[in-house]
Amino acid sequence: MNKELKEQLLAIRHVALDMDGTIYLSNSIFPFTLDFLAKLTRLGITYSFLTNNPTRSLEDYLAKLAKMGIQATKEQMYSTVPATIDYIKAHYPKAKKLFLLGTPSMISQFEDAGFISTAESADDVPDIVVAAFDLTLVYPRLCRAAWWVAQGIPYIATNPDKVCPTDQPTILVDCGSICKCIEYATGRKPDVTIGKPDPAMLAGIESRYGLKPAQIAMVGDRIYTDIEMAYNAGAFGVLVLSGETTLEMAREWPHQPSIICRDIEELGNLLEEAHAQA
Ligand SMILES: [Mg+2]
Repeated sequence: MNKELKEQLLAIRHVALDMDGTIYLSNSIFPFTLDFLAKLTRLGITYSFLTNNPTRSLEDYLAKLAKMGIQATKEQMYSTVPATIDYIKAHYPKAKKLFLLGTPSMISQFEDAGFISTAESADDVPDIVVAAFDLTLVYPRLCRAAWWVAQGIPYIATNPDKVCPTDQPTILVDCGSICKCIEYATGRKPDVTIGKPDPAMLAGIESRYGLKPAQIAMVGDRIYTDIEMAYNAGAFGVLVLSGETTLEMAREWPHQPSIICRDIEELGNLLEEAHAQA
């Protein structure tokens, strides 16, 4: 291992892990995932799990991980909901009232964080409009969101995804497409879109753990979201080939990862090697 790579690996204090294609595939955990997580703990490296999907509660994800044998805490689970909450608290510290275009589960996560969810009424003026992947989308609320967007209220999208992957015979119209609908009606795009590849999600992890970008490794299988976010944030980007990106696809992308690994097992071995030589 060359000196530069060794120094970069030794600087890593936290590993942010994409989930599908990185630690599991659909519902099957990779055989090396538990060993990898144990290795991080032995090396004194903390870790968290990242998802762009704001529709499920953190408890739902924790239950899914627990079924696979991964014991994680709520603090280790980072979806675009806590990322959006952190963003609002950092950039709009006075904001209290939000018009939330999202699922009841998402709305209760915002309420738990101290925000008030405004009603579908022209009299209940929000401080911010938050558009999300709303599986419970209804026409009057979509119209109300568009109205507030047209009034120039700060407007945040939780994630840029056009569709959510599914193995069912349907298309799950995701947040990016809902925002396109509002844009067509109002001429206005979201002021900021939080999910990968926007660096806001990693910025949230930096402030939670008190780390600099270079001390965080972002590990994922999608070059245009996971690795692009690492690039945008200045973090150490690890592309794993255990999901949807092939080496050929990776080579064509303009922003290259810091390293490419077959899977997280190989990354674990590299981290261990760097620490053994230190
Ligand atoms: Mg993935």
